[in-house]
Amino acid sequence: MPAESTYVIVGASLTGAKAAETLREEGFDGNIVLLGEEYERPYERPPLSKGYLLGKEEKSSIYVHEEGWYAENGVDLRLGVRVTALDPGAKQVSLADGGTVAYDLLLLATGASPRRLNAPGGDLDGVLYLRRVGDSERLQAALRGASQVVTVGAGWIGLEVTAAAREAGCEVTVVEPEAVALHRQLGPELGGVFADLHKEHGVVFRFGESVTEFRGSGGKVSEAVTSSGDVLPADLVVVGIGAIPATGLAAGAGLDVGNGVIADAGLRTSAPDVFAAGDVANAFHPLYGKHVRVEHWANALNGGPAAARSMLGQGVSYDAVPYFYSDQYDLGMETAGLPEPGTYDKIVYRGDVDGREFVAFWLSGGAVVAGMNVNVWDVNDDIQALIRSRRRVAEAHLADLDVPIADL
Ligand SMILES: Cc1cc2nc3c(=O)[nH]c(=O)nc-3n(C[C@H](O)[C@H](O)[C@H](O)COP(=O)(O)OP(=O)(O)OC[C@H]3O[C@@H](n4cnc5c(N)ncnc54)[C@H](O)[C@@H]3O)c2cc1C
Repeated sequence: MPAESTYVIVGASLTGAKAAETLREEGFDGNIVLLGEEYERPYERPPLSKGYLLGKEEKSSIYVHEEGWYAENGVDLRLGVRVTALDPGAKQVSLADGGTVAYDLLLLATGASPRRLNAPGGDLDGVLYLRRVGDSERLQAALRGASQVVTVGAGWIGLEVTAAAREAGCEVTVVEPEAVALHRQLGPELGGVFADLHKEHGVVFRFGESVTEFRGSGGKVSEAVTSSGDVLPADLVVVGIGAIPATGLAAGAGLDVGNGVIADAGLRTSAPDVFAAGDVANAFHPLYGKHVRVEHWANALNGGPAAARSMLGQGVSYDAVPYFYSDQYDLGMETAGLPEPGTYDKIVYRGDVDGREFVAFWLSGGAVVAGMNVNVWDVNDDIQALIRSRRRVAEAHLADLDVPIADL
């Protein structure tokens, strides 16, 4: 490839930074331009609702690379730069400052942004969202001064923030329209395990309800009104109701878009010189035989490099088993696969579910389609291999602690 080729990456977060790293590792010696609208160099978001939010992890630990890495590796990192338009015909992107950057190949790694709750009073001070490091710092400061927190949404971010708020000594009420926590992510059975964990820590759940209005005084939130008409005192509200993929550039350029930027298994979009990876990509997944959009850290960590290799013409078929982890109080867990309601017909457990030291296997037609290890470690790779194998496994063996998962 000619040395003067320019590969542009839009989105300077985990996906974008890992893609740049892989381009260099794989020997690409052209120009790499990494454009990001945030002012921080690429960082990882999971600590923002866990250790960093709790004040237990230093800021220096969240970054993907050391500050000098970009210059040392010839990566032209441009921060505080918003890309406003993509022109796949002219092969260039436009920037908010009026400039343009031409590319030979482009990677869209624009991620996602929090879904907003459209309720009266939603713009009052003290109604917070969590996506960026600044949000986490604002939330940490707010938790110090808060006593009654309302969390809107019992998804991962809502529950992790709830755990942090309890650790900060706040009373917390979680308002969730579904009948259980984490319904969309895990289904009702395992969602119940997490709700019980929080209840034991004194958290109150209002399932089957939504927040219809925020009220306040002096511009600051003081109450959240639920769909049942109840009024909850709240000096801090955290809204965690999901994320929306940042597809604006792709849509504006006429690329195929639908729940993310549509891409093939090589992470190539409908425009041949444009790739997409990470939270924004809805890519064909060979294991599932359909397009899948995964909003997990590991998909950024692995998807960025996969896109980079594909850009280098290495014939990529990106088929990583989706992987997710969470820490709440003293519970740590990893999940492999996508155990969404409707994708499984049975769950088999091994270990002590009540004591929260177990593995759960979600099965469909006798094969394991997803697995979660809770306070049990060094088994997730074996669970992923089991999912990938698609083989039918005897339930008695799945439940038997004496049968290593690798031997199932
Ligand atoms: C608080 C929090 C906790 C999380 N915890 C976990 C966890 O425990 N486990 C887990 O597996 N996953 C977790 N995740 C999810 C994980 O962080 C995401 O999957 C991951 O950040 C996706 O990386 P990405 O690079 O694809 O997108 P993002 O991290 O969203 O980064 C995209 C970047 O692109 C920039 N950008 C967007 N549009 C433009 C534009 N037009 N011009 C320039 N720049 C642009 C954005 O500003 C952003 O910096 C968490 C997420 C959050 C927010």
